[in-house]
Amino acid sequence: PEAITIQELANRMAERAVDVIKLLMRQGQMLKINDVIDADTAELIATEMGHTVKRVADSDVEEGLYAEADHADDTTPRPPIVTIMGHVDHGKTSLLDALRHANVVAGEAGGITQHIGAYQVEQNGQKITFIDTPGHAAFTAMRARGAKATDIVILVVAADDGVMPQTVEAIAHARAAGVPIIVAVNKMDKPDAKPERVRTDLLRHDIVVESMGGDTLEIEVSATKKMNLDKLLEAILLQSEVLELKANPDRDAEGIVIEAKLDKGRGPVASVLVQRGTLKVGDILVAGSEWGRVRALLNDKGAQVPSAGPSMPVEVLGFQGTPDAGDRVAVVDSEARAREITEYRIRSKRENQLKTAAGTRGSLEQMMT
Ligand code: GDP
Ligand code: MG
Repeated sequence: PEAITIQELANRMAERAVDVIKLLMRQGQMLKINDVIDADTAELIATEMGHTVKRVADSDVEEGLYAEADHADDTTPRPPIVTIMGHVDHGKTSLLDALRHANVVAGEAGGITQHIGAYQVEQNGQKITFIDTPGHAAFTAMRARGAKATDIVILVVAADDGVMPQTVEAIAHARAAGVPIIVAVNKMDKPDAKPERVRTDLLRHDIVVESMGGDTLEIEVSATKKMNLDKLLEAILLQSEVLELKANPDRDAEGIVIEAKLDKGRGPVASVLVQRGTLKVGDILVAGSEWGRVRALLNDKGAQVPSAGPSMPVEVLGFQGTPDAGDRVAVVDSEARAREITEYRIRSKRENQLKTAAGTRGSLEQMMT
């Protein structure tokens, strides 16, 4: 059974909580404003105060928010979305930085990149999206919300250090998510680099690289010496060809929040990775329990853009509040619909918390009798 506080019930009816308390008192129940009543009692009170009661189910409110899979006929190839993982100090940040500056598109204004949680590079005219939100935490958070935000994992292993605990963890994450791995054996410029050892270490974790007769792509690189970065980008494009990554760009956008913050001057700012459809200025968005109308979109160079298609990361201005990293994003057709969904989500979150609290109380009572 669902539960609700007297305050919340009063809010929803736009009545004073004190009137609800008085009514309950007349029925012989002495309760305070933050006390919880069950759904049946709430319904009785509401009816008695002249309100019609509509109990909403999840499916009704969220119905149709996320589209079914794109129809194959409507899809076109999209850039791969890549996450770099690996043990601490093996060179994840260095590699992300090196790749970011390796292929700044010719003629692009200044080529100065902004940190928006992800960026795109071009290799042979094809785009690749890198998520640069550091580490495994973001990956896990997104997966916990049922969002798949990565097509390919680059597993960075330092050639002078070999497979370490977080390397093994990263392998487990990629496997659990069903995402293919490309191995980047880094720090090849170091005199004590032992790539052979990395390869045999990986064998023990069932990763068989090409040179050992397997099908996992492996590139020896140096992030600091910018060695073989082109080869790594080529490997990513090769892998993504195999994956046949496609999306329909001609529909309302869906995506995922990769970062969000409250900016002093600009208000809530969310970095959104568009996964399907095209996000446009003026669109009404919901993300978790926040919503907003897109006021401006900025790309990874800080330039305003009118729209963002599949696999493109953009900074979104216009949210009313700050969503959470990992929240799924969807465009809806009206502010009323956006309000309905976010208010419903806030309510059900609160109800779940109350239910948990009530459950705890119940079991405590049981333990004491
Ligand atoms: P992260 O913890 O995985 O993000 O690793 P960092 O990118 O912060 O790198 C850790 C250290 O390794 C830094 O001192 C880097 O300068 C160094 N490093 C990263 N890549 C290379 C490389 O290819 N060659 C050498 N010699 N040092 C590297
Ligand atoms: Mg780092």
